[in-house]
Amino acid sequence: MSKLGFTTTTVHADQHFGVEHGGMHKPIHTSVQYGFERVEDLIGVFQGTVKGGYNYARQGTPTTAALESKITLMEQGLGSVSFATGMAAITATFLTLLKAGDHLISSQFVFGNTNSLLGTLRDLGIEVTTVDVTQADNVAAAIRPNTRMVFVETIANPGTQIPDLSTLGTLCADQGLLYVVDNTITSPLLFRPGSVGAGLVINSLTKTIAGHGSALGGAVTDTGLFDWQAYPNIFANYRKGDPRQWGLQQIRKKGLRDMGGTLSSEHAHQISVGAETLALRVAQSSATALQLAQFLEAHPAINRVYYPMLESHPQYAVARQHFNAGSWLLSFELRDAKDCLAFINRLQLPVKATGLGDTRSLIIPVAHTIFWEAGAQARAAMGIADGLIRLSVGLEDCTDLLGDFEQALAAA
Ligand SMILES: *Cc1c(COP(=O)(O)O)cnc(C)c1O
Repeated sequence: MSKLGFTTTTVHADQHFGVEHGGMHKPIHTSVQYGFERVEDLIGVFQGTVKGGYNYARQGTPTTAALESKITLMEQGLGSVSFATGMAAITATFLTLLKAGDHLISSQFVFGNTNSLLGTLRDLGIEVTTVDVTQADNVAAAIRPNTRMVFVETIANPGTQIPDLSTLGTLCADQGLLYVVDNTITSPLLFRPGSVGAGLVINSLTKTIAGHGSALGGAVTDTGLFDWQAYPNIFANYRKGDPRQWGLQQIRKKGLRDMGGTLSSEHAHQISVGAETLALRVAQSSATALQLAQFLEAHPAINRVYYPMLESHPQYAVARQHFNAGSWLLSFELRDAKDCLAFINRLQLPVKATGLGDTRSLIIPVAHTIFWEAGAQARAAMGIADGLIRLSVGLEDCTDLLGDFEQALAAA
């Protein structure tokens, strides 16, 4: 199975996990309760001796389990836990694996809500240092005796900064640190964080994996590379059975069962169907994004374009080394920053909306919206200019998008 291609593996996954009545899709299981003929089996599910059993849907259903297996196959990992949103997956990872007095090193270029969450961690007594992860030396210099985890995003949104992914993997392995990589913008199609030594991979399934802007979801995948026996924060209760499962076991029990950010079976099904066309969609939207990036970079009304597969991108070499394509996310600044809002209004096709990885192109002025709450100082630290515009490229025909940008810029 693992020798087959990405899409072959994905579209046949449900059947390999066990067909019900010949159905091609894992059915949408809506039961909250799961009943048993023999009480011993109910007890077995509670005690973990009956494998693959269910008792209460907050901890998962056969439908969410099928999606988790699919994500695990895509990431070529050991296992996954799904959540109601990407933020629920990130929150559960931080709160179940870090405690007061621990130290987390995070990229300073992270999703706005993740950045806000780092503030919550500080309030809870977790030390957080944010650094420029494009230089691994900055991470090495920030390591303290109580450092437990390094957190980065593959392509940061909206600035498209890329960490020194493999050097950080080696550093974390040498120092025994848990390397957590948010793979949302690249998705397992363009990059597998396990290939650079990440222990945990986070995907917001809401974006390209679901792909149609119609379902929220998130997942944490264990790559099998981290040694949980050496991790001090695994509770005695979860230091049982196969040590490779300890981390996910704790995330599932503490992060899903106790915190309750559970993915619904309905959304798990939608995400699962969306995932079948991930490769087709990302191939097209990435190709269009590259063409648009090249067009914008050559245009006199444009000041700067941020796209990993442009030679002008500071981490172009890292992107070429690790990513199969530059993704559907690009950002740019007009030469005349004051024209930013009028320019966006002149565009006919991209929808003025937040969100990423939809079939439709979505456009948003960054400083006025998603990074408004962060304030001017934080924006400056993250390299976000007042006139920065973020574009999530959809599946529209490339020539139509190019034509639309051409007409909107002609008036600039
Ligand atoms: C959207 C996003 C998230 C959060 O995902 P939700 O499903 O919206 O909660 C986390 N990280 C990155 C990089 C994202 O783009």
